[in-house]
Order: sequence, then structure tokens, then C-alpha cells
Amino acid sequence: RRWAHNIPSFSHLNAVTEEDLAHFHKILAPTSILSTLPPNSTSTDDLASYNEDWMGKYHGQANTVLRPRTTQQVSEIVKWCAKRRIGIVPQGGNTGLVGGGISLQKEIVLSLGAMSNVRSFDPVSGILVADAGCVLESLSEYIAPHNHIMPLDLGAKGSCQIGGNISTNAGGLRLLRYGSLHGTVLGLEVVLPDGTILDQLSTLRKDNTGYDLKQLFIGGEGTLGIVTGVSILTPPAPQASNNVFLALPNFNNVLPLYQTVKRQLGEIMSAFEYIDRTAYDMGISHGLGPILDAGEVGDSQCFVLVETSGGNQTHDEEKLNGLLESLLSAEQPLINTGVLSQSPSQFASIWAFREGLTECCQKEGKPYKYDVSVPLADFQKVVDAIRERMISKGLYGDHAISKVMGYGHVGDGNLHMNVIAKHGYRPELEEALEPYIYEIVASHKGSVSAEHGIGSMKTHALHYSKSDVSIEWMRKIKQVFDPLNIMNPGKVLP
Ligand code: FAD
Repeated sequence: RRWAHNIPSFSHLNAVTEEDLAHFHKILAPTSILSTLPPNSTSTDDLASYNEDWMGKYHGQANTVLRPRTTQQVSEIVKWCAKRRIGIVPQGGNTGLVGGGISLQKEIVLSLGAMSNVRSFDPVSGILVADAGCVLESLSEYIAPHNHIMPLDLGAKGSCQIGGNISTNAGGLRLLRYGSLHGTVLGLEVVLPDGTILDQLSTLRKDNTGYDLKQLFIGGEGTLGIVTGVSILTPPAPQASNNVFLALPNFNNVLPLYQTVKRQLGEIMSAFEYIDRTAYDMGISHGLGPILDAGEVGDSQCFVLVETSGGNQTHDEEKLNGLLESLLSAEQPLINTGVLSQSPSQFASIWAFREGLTECCQKEGKPYKYDVSVPLADFQKVVDAIRERMISKGLYGDHAISKVMGYGHVGDGNLHMNVIAKHGYRPELEEALEPYIYEIVASHKGSVSAEHGIGSMKTHALHYSKSDVSIEWMRKIKQVFDPLNIMNPGKVLP
């Protein structure tokens, strides 16, 4: 199986033995241990949900999964693994899209799912302190009665965990408004690769006392330590939210539209999402729509979802209505048609269309997912170049790559390119796609990973976005934190 590049042999690591398992039984309750080794008798099938990723692309080989309930238990497990040189793969909700949470050899999976308590919430400051295993959506529900929202939101919210979000530095649908986790995370509690508990669970907005170590774990993908607790600043819930869905004749209008929308909506604009025609048609065919009248959509080439979050419903609606009117009445309209949500359910269904696209890709076949940052003006060029490449290789069509499409967070310069292999992943398809895609992205001075991370999928492509000097210093940092290389080995660094 060739699903990760250069799967390392890990000769420095040991597989879990019955003796190790006996030790884990001293730390954890029996129900917190899943293992195929005696005296446990978990079947390989019972481990499947930990050994296979959301896309069914990455297949792990872990024979033991540990589900600690406390930071102290995590610390004791890690101490033992360091002593015995056992590799550890931290795992949250297992919704990551780059194979970061899946074992490469016989590392144990340390699942954070049983650490799911809110530790405190201050409704005045909006500061939430929670266990890393809390599911993002459940945190949203917890703070909703206090009129606060989580500063991030993504399609996987029902399964992904806040510790996983932090470890992947997840971006998502609210980044445009509330910024990245590097700004909203105030503190972390982390179990380091020798088992030491690093308690930096600060609730201070301002703290300039030397190096800000927590930043290394935000986007660290579990390679430097296990995040066990999180302190995060949550913004007040907007008093009014609206969205519009717009159909554009062609891609050339996206940039002028973005500028117009920013100018007219100003501070209330909270999302600006892009969907190309292929992705739109796929969404419709899987029952996500209709959002717009098919006749009015005509041959529109792309679509944009704009969300506003403000303080006054009437004021925001006036602004949005004014925007739509000015767009439609312009001499050379930037849009063909558009719809302004008229009710909470229509608001939700417009968002459901955008958020549902990732799942639709799964239903279409096996998606190669490329989550890249490129200058806004180059979005469509990159997608077209990939499609043309597959056509020129004779690999475009139902026999191979059936669809190439782009959607994403235009406001953040983040394009999600999905290349659908109708009948499954095949080495020759991947060889036609990579490193070509990374070369194209690099030629546009983009990033090979905008928000999903490197995991095991892109270790070989890291150099397209990071200089040799940067990679050398990343290695030095890894060496300082994890000299035994037990913490998520084989991930991030080539
Ligand atoms: P996992 O998948 O379990 O793990 C991801 C990585 O983090 C692994 O390397 C793992 O080892 C590490 N990790 C997990 N928990 C910890 C921990 N406590 N301590 C240390 N390391 C840990 N991402 C975006 O950025 N924006 C999006 O809009 C977006 N939309 C998505 C939509 C869908 C439908 C899906 C399936 C995924 C989407 N993603 C998106 C991918 C995103 O990275 C994940 O959904 C999420 O952030 C990962 O959280 P998780 O708990 O599932 O982590």
C-alpha cells in the first residue's frame, strides 16, 4: 500500500508488548484500553475507526489504543513510552485530511476523546478553558446560552476536537473575522514527549514574558507534545447574521466583487466563500440545493457566499439589500443573480450548501485533496492547470479523474482543490498530480498547505513552501522537544 511517501521504518522504536499493556492497565481503567494483545482481545475491526482516516485514504497499523481521562494519566503513559521507546500518535476526532492522526507503523494511538470536560468559562471575558478532547460543536453549544461563539467553525465541527483544531491550526469559516488560533488561543496545557506536564493554561489577554512556547504546539500536529487543555478567547455572538449567495458570470468578476463587498459591508462582513461551477453542480446533484433559480443561474461560472455578522438586524439587512441592488443595477453587473436569506432556515441551508461540499466529494469517488494558499487572482488558473494536466495525460474522464474543482475561503486566499478519482486512489493518478500541483503552487508563491497541515501526506512537499534554513530549524526544535522521536514520528518533517 502506497499511501504515504517514504513510510519510515522506525528502527528506533519498539512495538507494544504484553508487558507494556500490563503497565497501561496500572494507569488506566480496563475500558480505556483497546488492544489486540492479550489479555485484551479487541478485534482489528474494533480498532478500525482509529486506524482509518475520514477519507478512507490512510490506513494505520496500531494494535493498541489508549483513551486516558486525565492529564496525569497522559503524562504517565508518555513517560512509559519514552522509557520503552514506543511511538505515540495523538488522535482527536480523526477528521484531519492529511493522515496526521493515523499510525505509520505500530505506534500506539492516544485518543483524547475521553477528556471532554469544560474546566471553566468566564462570561464576562469570554475565556473558555476546556479539556483538549471536547468536540468543537459541544463547546459552541456550551457557550451559546452565554451569548458567545467559538472563534472557529468548520464542516467537521460535530466530530473534531478543540485539541485537534489547535494541533492542526485549523482555519475554517470564521478566520476572516476572528483571525487564526495563533491569536485566539491564550494558553495550553501540554504533555511533553518525556511526560512532563507543561502548564501554560494562562487566561491572560496580554503576557509578554519571554518566548511564547504555546505557539509551537498550535499547528504542531502532535509532533512536539500532546495538548491536554486549552484556554481560548471566545467572541460575543453577533446579534444579527445574514448571508447572500451570488452567481457570477465568470471568475474575472470575483476579485472586483470582493473589493466591492468589502467596501460596502465594511466591518459586518464575516465570510466570503468561493465555489466554482463544477463544485456547485456537484452540490446540486447531491441534493444540497437548489439555492438559486436554475434559469437565472444560466451558465454562471462561479458562486460566492457572503456572510455578515453585526449588531443590528435592520441595519445589516439594509446594507445587504443595498449591496445586492447596486450589484444588479450596475451597467456591467458583476453578478448574474443572487439570493439574500430571508429566514434562519434559509440562512442555514445556504451555509449547508458550502459546508456539505466536502462530504459530496466523498460520495463522488475518492478525492485527492489539495488545500493550498495562492494569490486570489490565480485561483482559477491553478484549478484549470490541474484539469488540463489530467486531460493531457489521458487521465480525465470517468475511467480516472472524473472531476477537478475548487472551492474555499477566498477571503483568506485559501483554495480547496478536489480532484476526484471516480474508482479509487491509484498510484499513476497520484504520480500525475504530484509534485506537479506543488510546483504550480510554488510558482504562484503559494503555500502547499493553507490550513490542513502536513501530516504524512505532504512531508515530501514541505520544501515547496519552506526554505532549507526553515526546515533545518524545525528539525532542531523537534530535536529539543522530542530527542527520542517518539511523538507522532514520520509526520510533518521529511
Ligand atoms: P485529528 O484528525 O484527530 O488529528 C489531526 C492532527 O492533530 C494529527 O496530526 C494528530 O496527531 C494531532 N492531534 C489531534 N489531537 C491532538 C492533541 N490533543 N494533541 C496533540 N496533537 C493532536 N480544516 C480546516 O482548517 N478548515 C476547514 O474548514 C476544515 N473543514 C473540514 C471539513 C470536513 C468535512 C472535514 C472532514 C475536515 C475539515 N478540516 C478543516 C480538517 C481539519 O484539520 C480537522 O477537521 C480538524 O482541525 C482536526 O481535528 P481532529 O480533532 O479531528 O484531529
